[in-house]
Amino acid sequence: MNEYIIGENVGQVDTKRFYIPGVMLGATCPDCKSEVFQDFHGNDYLINPVMGVPIERTIYCEHCYHEWTCKIIVKIDVKVVT
Ligand SMILES: [Zn+2]
Repeated sequence: MNEYIIGENVGQVDTKRFYIPGVMLGATCPDCKSEVFQDFHGNDYLINPVMGVPIERTIYCEHCYHEWTCKIIVKIDVKVVT
């Protein structure tokens, strides 16, 4: 196999509504222990994310109204397959 990928993606995505099908952020509420999810393919899409740079997300628990933050990193992974 002679094909390979060079470099990694950097910079800001020029897409205001950046949806990621199939990927969700899951969290356990620190107060009531409920499972909370953010669907990156739904209303919780990312807005112009910058690749490889931590992005702060606010997580809201609909059960007890607790709110907290965490950081995520978005990277696009490209591999050569045969
Ligand atoms: Zn909660």
